[in-house]
Amino acid sequence: MTDLSNPPRIERYVPVDHAKVDFAGGFWESWSKTVREVTVPSQHRRLDEERFLEVLNFDQPPGPLARPIQPSGLSMQHFFDSDFGKWIEAASYTLKAHPNPALQAKIDGIVEKLAHGQMADGYLNSWFIRREPDKRWTNLRDLHEMYSMGHLLEGAVAYFEATGKRAFLDVMIKAVDHIDATFGREPGKLRGYDAHEEIELALIKLYRVTKNPKHLKLAQYFVDERGQMPSYYDEEARRRGDDPANYHYQTYAYSQAHMPVREQTQVVGHAVRAMYLFSAMADLAYETSDLTLLAACDRLFDNLTGRQLYITGGLGPSGANEGFTREYDLPNETAYAETCAAVALAFWGHRMAQIELDSRFTDHVELAIFNGALSGIARDGEHYFYENVLESHGQHRRWKWHYCPCCPTNIARLIASLGSYFYTTKPDELVVHLYGANTAEAEIGGRIVQISQETSYPWDGDIALTLVPAAPMPFTLRLRMPGWCNKASVTVNGEGIDTAAAEKGYLAIARQWAAGDVVRISFDMPVERLYAHPLASEDAGRVALKRGPVVYCAEEADLGFVPQLLALPADAEIAAEFDPDLLGGAVRLSALATKTSDADWDGQLYRREQPKTQATRLNAIPYHLWANRQAGGMLVWLREK
Ligand SMILES: [Zn+2]
Repeated sequence: MTDLSNPPRIERYVPVDHAKVDFAGGFWESWSKTVREVTVPSQHRRLDEERFLEVLNFDQPPGPLARPIQPSGLSMQHFFDSDFGKWIEAASYTLKAHPNPALQAKIDGIVEKLAHGQMADGYLNSWFIRREPDKRWTNLRDLHEMYSMGHLLEGAVAYFEATGKRAFLDVMIKAVDHIDATFGREPGKLRGYDAHEEIELALIKLYRVTKNPKHLKLAQYFVDERGQMPSYYDEEARRRGDDPANYHYQTYAYSQAHMPVREQTQVVGHAVRAMYLFSAMADLAYETSDLTLLAACDRLFDNLTGRQLYITGGLGPSGANEGFTREYDLPNETAYAETCAAVALAFWGHRMAQIELDSRFTDHVELAIFNGALSGIARDGEHYFYENVLESHGQHRRWKWHYCPCCPTNIARLIASLGSYFYTTKPDELVVHLYGANTAEAEIGGRIVQISQETSYPWDGDIALTLVPAAPMPFTLRLRMPGWCNKASVTVNGEGIDTAAAEKGYLAIARQWAAGDVVRISFDMPVERLYAHPLASEDAGRVALKRGPVVYCAEEADLGFVPQLLALPADAEIAAEFDPDLLGGAVRLSALATKTSDADWDGQLYRREQPKTQATRLNAIPYHLWANRQAGGMLVWLREK
């Protein structure tokens, strides 16, 4: 746990741009290629086929709803803008390193329609402009207006950075000017904030492009105002003639608006909202050196990872509020663990590691990307999970599109920008956060350094990191020593480095670096048996298998029977072997195990005799690869006997 009486100072590391990181030859190569070549084009087709882009026909009457109104008063269609905003963002990330005029033309087509539909005062939201213009800004609690604009804004920033084209950015700056003129503490403005966080972190992205302090201050206002009492949502409901007591979700904890953000100690409510808020708080701490926000983030990160996180990096166990319930409530078969939430945990952890260099953040980024986030997309790049359960009897299958398709574009934008999670720099430092084959180019103190990692990580813990500065130069290389690793060795040009000197999980090597210097890193990567805290009672008597950052599961496709019948002896030796034919190539785990027989029960549900068991073989695959073959059961937490 962090010592909060002595909070650390704010660091300011700068991520190396994803377009400067090339995954050729490694684990992420096929994923990033699939996202670029299959996911992004297929998502545009889905947005079109499923009538999402239709909302941009501002000159036509709105027509029948593509999605009905829910009991909460919200139609998924209220926030269709967010879905193509996120799609533009993902597409823009792929464009940056791989120009594609046809893709650019599709984005330009959307931007043109948005610019055409934008109101004279800058307001921009397809639902309210076309369907309920008199209800603009009357229900921030339920209707996602600023959430949608935030995703358009993130899309606009990404598109500008990829292409240098300003049209979308200018549209969104005008929309932000309108928001700024409408909300704030000044007389005549509404003291509101959107219940679905997103605009906050988007405004900070905008600020980093424009350097206009107004954009940063607006983000700061939204974060500071959140949870102040009396609640804006009560006043707003009364203005609409509603009784605040009739609020569908009953508590503003659903939106992390139950108390000011700096007083929050437990991660509560809707999981994606929480992660977006905390990401914005980390960004604000970065930009403003606000230690009170850093302290709150530290505390909340520890609460999440110490008491509320699935072993896969999934989060938010309940479908009822798409979020958290009580601490240690981690059901497996009904786990909600939305893909968006694990993706957003990576967003948050990545930001935390830029202001506080501590591997506990990056360890969880890595956990999410290799497990609970990556499980959200199929190997074919066009089928998805919304919920990432840890146990199935075969009823969970991937879908082509979703009623509420927030997750597909979210996992796409994470993978399309994943390069930016690998390295950060300061004028005299290079930090290596993640491992995996890539070549990259970083700027350290104004000078270019070529970097390459040769490795088959995560299938193997050996990495050869080669540095090629244009001319010899001194800087400190910091290597993340993953929290999952108990034994590591590091050499520089063959000379051993004391890994025990690592601080907060980062090993510093300060020296003069010259072209061709090779750092060899070896992380011992045995198969580990992990057990859950006793209060996570769903996992009692069970064991999970993990090797390096990769969590494993047993799947019926390998066993030939539902994995719920399997038990792993406590002393069973577990072998790990790379199988090039396993779902694109992966390490498979195997062990002697037992199967409980369900064959001789003669129609009984209960009986006096213990069930019979027989020897069998456990074959376990990486969790993120499940549900890519025939339908069947799956289990992460195996019975141990
Ligand atoms: Zn989602």
